[in-house]
Amino acid sequence: MRTTSFRSTKRKWDYIPEYALAQTPRYTSYPPANRFSARVNSSKAQAAIASLPAASSISLYLHIPFCKKLCWYCGCHTSVPTIADPVAPYVEALIHEIEIAGELAPGNARVDHIHFGGGSPDILTPEQIMRIFVALRSSFQVGRFAEIAAELDPRGARPEVIDAFASGGLTRASLGVQVLDVSVQKRINRIQTEDQIASAVRLLRAAGIVSLNLDMMYGLPGQTREHVVETALFIAAQDADRVATFGYAHVPWMKKHQNAIATDDLASGEERFRQAEMAASALETAGYLPIGFDHFAAPGDSLVAADRDGRLRRNFQGYTDDDAIALIGFGASAISSLPGLTYQNTTDTSTYKADIMAGRLPVVRGVAHTQADVRTGKLIERILCDFEVNVPGDLLIAACPQLTALTDAGLAQLSGTHLIVTDRGRPYVRNIAACFDPEIAHSVNRHSLAV
Ligand code: SF4
Repeated sequence: MRTTSFRSTKRKWDYIPEYALAQTPRYTSYPPANRFSARVNSSKAQAAIASLPAASSISLYLHIPFCKKLCWYCGCHTSVPTIADPVAPYVEALIHEIEIAGELAPGNARVDHIHFGGGSPDILTPEQIMRIFVALRSSFQVGRFAEIAAELDPRGARPEVIDAFASGGLTRASLGVQVLDVSVQKRINRIQTEDQIASAVRLLRAAGIVSLNLDMMYGLPGQTREHVVETALFIAAQDADRVATFGYAHVPWMKKHQNAIATDDLASGEERFRQAEMAASALETAGYLPIGFDHFAAPGDSLVAADRDGRLRRNFQGYTDDDAIALIGFGASAISSLPGLTYQNTTDTSTYKADIMAGRLPVVRGVAHTQADVRTGKLIERILCDFEVNVPGDLLIAACPQLTALTDAGLAQLSGTHLIVTDRGRPYVRNIAACFDPEIAHSVNRHSLAV
């Protein structure tokens, strides 16, 4: 259990450009992707799944890389179908991949978390959703109380799709609200009305989905602090259980469609920082508790208990109370994280289908974890989750050159080897975590801004 209590982020945040504008990993996994290489292939991935300890608790992630329309801010691996129906053959391959992994995993492994992400999983038909659930349950032992989550686009959350997910056992849904202001929505090519979002929320609640995450963004083109507060208050009025606030990452050299966003429309570094501050303040005023650096949860939500008890974790979806030892990803571009190995599937859907139909996992890159990676990854995760940690002496000495500037700036404090992120340092927790990352110097221009 951590020693500090929930600390409000409502004090005025101090803008420190050198840290707010630093490119910093989100650390949803470690080692970072710049260490991935083609030396990790299908046979290594298959061996890693087969070597999972008996009776392991595992999580599954299913990636659906299709959307009806492209949002210009999008940083996900997705595409708008240009051929008649690319989804049906993709679902066939996805089901086959689930079966291959199910054959390899220990028979008594238990699945406690399943997450449908994308892309837009709501692009699936009810029949496809049902078939995927049948494949999951016949290939794996899905726990009776498994958390099953899906990312849904409020514009595509049709009643029949929600019913199909609910019949499969969906317990949690994430809806992308992002921003309500229509002028900003036009600038990001994502027009959705308040009615559409409220209607999706009502349908999900009526279908018995007990937990709702609503996501919002800051730093979008033309967005102001007033827009951020308007969106936060709307989300609170929907009674969301969790809220995630994401800063727009403008990386047109990696995501070509972001060239449609005029750079002149983007907020300055300080304005963006103030928008993040306003989002946090509005959500806390509405009764949410801050979780980590970008999540908020209603007092009764399981993330709050996990945070209080020191059980908060980070995975590819952000903050979670999922404590599974392995995450197996299915679908094009999906990343899997197993004890000792992280690997990624091909991003090309044609290659993906061809590999699966040839009976092999479509793995193209990855990284084997060293013991040093495991120590660093655990340390970074505890800093980002607990805002305090006991640092092994050798890692503290290695971090000293970078960390000293942050402690001198009052962003962190050291008491012996116990590191505490101060209230002033809370917005900069990613910068503090990065001091312990020996890979950071090799990953310039690959990350989003720290705030
Ligand atoms: S709906 Fe989501 S995944 Fe699809 S383009 Fe928009 S942001 Fe990207």
